[in-house]
Amino acid sequence: MEVIIHRGTHQIGGCATEYRTKNARIFVDFGAELDSENAKPFDIEGVTKGKTSCDAVFFTHYHGDHMGLLDTINEDIPLYMGEASKTIAKILNDRLSKAPNIDSYDPERINSIRTFEAAKAIVIGDIKITPYMVDHSAYDAYMFKIEADGKSVLHTGDFRTHGFRGKGVKPTLEKYVKKVDALVCEGTTLNRAEAKCETENDLKNRIKTVLQESKYVFVVCSSTNIDRLAGICSVIPKGMYCICDDYQLSVIEYIRDYAGDKSSLYKFRKALYYGENLDEKMNDKGFCMFVRCGSPEHKRIMEKYKDKNPVVIYSMWKGYLEQDNIKEFLDGYKKFDMHTSGHADSDAIKMVIDTVQPNMVIPMHTEVPEAFMNFVGNRKIRLAKDEEIINIGGCVNE
Ligand SMILES: [Zn+2]
Ligand SMILES: [Zn+2]
Repeated sequence: MEVIIHRGTHQIGGCATEYRTKNARIFVDFGAELDSENAKPFDIEGVTKGKTSCDAVFFTHYHGDHMGLLDTINEDIPLYMGEASKTIAKILNDRLSKAPNIDSYDPERINSIRTFEAAKAIVIGDIKITPYMVDHSAYDAYMFKIEADGKSVLHTGDFRTHGFRGKGVKPTLEKYVKKVDALVCEGTTLNRAEAKCETENDLKNRIKTVLQESKYVFVVCSSTNIDRLAGICSVIPKGMYCICDDYQLSVIEYIRDYAGDKSSLYKFRKALYYGENLDEKMNDKGFCMFVRCGSPEHKRIMEKYKDKNPVVIYSMWKGYLEQDNIKEFLDGYKKFDMHTSGHADSDAIKMVIDTVQPNMVIPMHTEVPEAFMNFVGNRKIRLAKDEEIINIGGCVNE
């Protein structure tokens, strides 16, 4: 089997990894670069142009850096994704398609995505792909065990172990994934100073304190960071209103229907979408409202409360705070930065390596692949370049 990381060996974003044998060729993720405006064209023969020679593309989750180039994939290539991940991508896309000046996917292409189930293998030619659910800031995210030519690779995708569902990662690896020949692992956080990430639970408890001490609270949070939303909703004090817009409400209601029976975390307390008829009640009882930077409507609502000492909980990556539109959106408000990463910290990466005991570690989704040297011990590390062919062995092409 051969692995080619077309993009992602030295960057975060724009992930696209090929796995191939003599008889089959699949991709894991086909993402857009983080700075999509300045992105270089990304064309692959047989995938985005020319006669199709790719059998399937599997998406780990709905984040744009993993599925953003969906529309460029030849139409006759089957696409696969988790069921909830696909639905959330659809809901998000419906909103974007109505917004001016924002790119959105072809809805037909999203509808065409086939869905897989956790731990149920899909066989494409002589490649077997088994998805396992992981903890990440996107809901319904997966890692893949890919087996072919007598060899196996674990492709982690984005994951972490400090979220609400993080405890499940290690047992899944031990019970189902076991030992693999190679590990393709994300390393997003490795260029950051903090070695260990705050748990989603500790963050939730800090947010709870702010909510208890403030009457009017706006929360800036990704509308699809489901576990963050669920955690915050679970600590909104009784009597305080939980407010959002109709788009955010449709995401919450979908998750409540999909997973509310399986986990109390996803039951979500009652949320209302904002209307002026609520102003009097919101004024009286206080509220926690989810807002998005860049929404003129949300800005207008925030301004209504500006003289009432509202607080803003900023619960996204702090790097975005450098952006002018976000600075302007938050200007003049008392702000709490309360966020933890959606990605694996060094302990999580070390745990995965120790658990699946790969013969070869291949870093990706990181700006500092060489930082993996700290975790691999005596194992072989392969610091690949984009587009380089990595032979996992067992390949009839050898
Ligand atoms: Zn992600
Ligand atoms: Zn990512």
